Amino acid sequence: MAADLAHVVVAASDYPLVDPLDIDQALGVVARAVRDVIDEAVSGHGECLGVGVAIPAPIDPETLRPAPSSCHQLWVDAPVRELLRERVGLPVYVGNHGNLAVMAERLWGAGRRVDDFIWIGLDANVGGGICSGGQLLRGRDGFAGELGHIVVDPDGEICRCGSQGCLETVASLGSIQRALRPVYGQVEPDQIFALINRGEPAALRAITNIGTQVGVAVSTLINILNPSLFIVGGVLSRQCGPVILDAIRVEMDRRALPVARRSVQLRFSTLRRPEPLGAAALVLMDASRRLVIDRKGKPHWEQAAG
Ligand SMILES: [Zn+2]
Repeated sequence: MAADLAHVVVAASDYPLVDPLDIDQALGVVARAVRDVIDEAVSGHGECLGVGVAIPAPIDPETLRPAPSSCHQLWVDAPVRELLRERVGLPVYVGNHGNLAVMAERLWGAGRRVDDFIWIGLDANVGGGICSGGQLLRGRDGFAGELGHIVVDPDGEICRCGSQGCLETVASLGSIQRALRPVYGQVEPDQIFALINRGEPAALRAITNIGTQVGVAVSTLINILNPSLFIVGGVLSRQCGPVILDAIRVEMDRRALPVARRSVQLRFSTLRRPEPLGAAALVLMDASRRLVIDRKGKPHWEQAAG
């Protein structure tokens, strides 16, 4: 998607990846997307200041490359910025998708004017991020906010991170497909949402279980971080939100410390795709730092480091 200096999204498109783990193939698709979006949104009306990329892996704060995380091994330490800059000829900015979602929520979404909040994204994977005291919580190595890898069942399924019983193994699209297979066979996401909308008891049970597990995990975080807001995003929240939110609320009432529970509100994300929006915010924040107004009042941007 493309955003202008007023932070308004002026163009957006979807480009599916055949093999998201193949860096060459993925960056080729991203470069084509950048060219198409620039043609649509920028051509003849100004210049493109940079390209932001949301990556579903922790980002090393020193190298700005995907950090070793046991997930997405093929992307670890890949020079994504440099490789993409060569392809598009523009400054490139990268960030962890959960962290970028938090930035977008704070700028445009439910987290506006909120200093302490937790964000979770329930999609094919489970993403997360934390804003504490008005600052994005990154941690020493960029790993803070990995809500999907909170252990909720020590004897549960092996997770792709190498641990066992992580929230992601019980609260993602894949987990609901596995849970429903004995009842309905293989079901695709749209079929699952149709079952839930029809009120099918087994589908409702499966989605309630997801809310319960998220509620267990987030109650612990509420006791540790004392936030004022918990934002639930991702395709599962958009399609089955009320059922999930009710189950989360039940667990928060049961498990969070009463004073901390009273302080925290529970809301849906109002942003359809906060991760790329946050990537656009990275570009715009750097652009505002590089902005120089000449004597005739004309804006120029100093060369970007990215
Ligand atoms: Zn895990």
